[in-house]
Amino acid sequence: MSYVDEVLQKVAEKNPGEKEFQQAVKEVLDSLRPVIEANEEQYRKDALLERMTEPERIITFRVPWVDDNGQAHVNRGFRVQFNSAIGPYKGGLRLHPSVNLGIIKFLGFEQTFKNSLTGLPIGGGKGGSDFDPKGKSDREIMKFCQSFMTELYRHIGADTDVPAGDIGVGGREIGYLYGQYKRLTGLYEGVLTGKGLTYGGSLARTEATGYGLVYMVREMLLNAGMTMEGKTVAVSGSGNVAIYTTEKAQQYGMKVVTLSDSNGWIYDPNGIDLDLVKQIKEVRRGRIKEYAEAKPGVEYHEGKGVWSVKCDIALPCATQNELDLEDAKQLKANGCFLVAEGANMPSTREATDFFLESGMMFMPGKAANAGGVATSALEMSQNSERLSWTFEEVDEKLHNIMINIFKKVDEAAKKYGYEGNYVMGANIAGFEKVVEAMNAQGI
Ligand code: GLU
Repeated sequence: MSYVDEVLQKVAEKNPGEKEFQQAVKEVLDSLRPVIEANEEQYRKDALLERMTEPERIITFRVPWVDDNGQAHVNRGFRVQFNSAIGPYKGGLRLHPSVNLGIIKFLGFEQTFKNSLTGLPIGGGKGGSDFDPKGKSDREIMKFCQSFMTELYRHIGADTDVPAGDIGVGGREIGYLYGQYKRLTGLYEGVLTGKGLTYGGSLARTEATGYGLVYMVREMLLNAGMTMEGKTVAVSGSGNVAIYTTEKAQQYGMKVVTLSDSNGWIYDPNGIDLDLVKQIKEVRRGRIKEYAEAKPGVEYHEGKGVWSVKCDIALPCATQNELDLEDAKQLKANGCFLVAEGANMPSTREATDFFLESGMMFMPGKAANAGGVATSALEMSQNSERLSWTFEEVDEKLHNIMINIFKKVDEAAKKYGYEGNYVMGANIAGFEKVVEAMNAQGI
């Protein structure tokens, strides 16, 4: 049996029921086969892939909190410190009822390669809880965040592990988490990123994942000799990533026609009115349905279906496995020729294979959405030197980072004879740096 197959079998046996983690490991190792086969003997001897697929540390903890009616609740908290070969653990915290250990492990595993691709010194980690922020009062969110940090603080630090936001964790939550960390430790240090601008946050961090995604799309189009102006874009989600993807796409003259949430999706044939979206999502914390209620001529559909619209470009910015094979086929049939992932692993394995086999341009999340974590690393740099850079400085650095990621991914794919296969390119480029750092540091 090949070394890859042997490790995949072990991973399945050792992580039963963790389907997203198994899916992510399989997708990465399958695409790395040419590299691994070329070094099979050495890697096997060093148990390299076993080490790479086993998190360095998993922390699980109880998060008790009291709601506004005086009722106590208990959620489960996680922090997976996956790989610190190239820097302190870095990665977001997700608050969503679907969160379990397997989901956090898949995200931490992906984060390791994503962070490597940014070219910045950050290792991979991820955390979160099965707490559902939907419908909770501000005070309940604060109580939950304080309780979460009351355990987490002992495991993190500006030079060891630096969490940030992810689904369900934005500026408000980071503020409450940071306040509690400071209260407990007495330290005013850059232990979290995505902080508010008044207490050490970086300009452009809020926009970074979405802006970075569009900078990546720009490189893909330029490389294919195409322009951005006038392209129709379907975006899913309506959180931070979707909003700033829409903003930057519109600045480049593209027309974004869809957004969605877990209840349904909107189609605005005239192009999304972003001020209205921000009002609904960022100010009122409402649902995307309210957009259609406020604007005549906009369609609202319950449930899934955002990928059934006619578009040139699809940017899934909601969550994992939101785009399946049927969606992929429908996109292709409707003329879509480019897909770039703003979310982490939003396309199923079958959908990804279809994109690659049918000759569509496809950029996986670990490259396409790396602008968020890259700008987090820029926030860490600013905190270390106790300075803040201008919006333009950070945005320019972000843009260059995305250009460099595209180059690395494109070159790595070419080097192994798989030109245009950015899944292989991203995995190979991310992997090679981590391997080198792991080897240098011994077993
Ligand atoms: N949650 C984001 C991601 O998936 C950002 C993580 C960070 O900024 O540390 O990459």
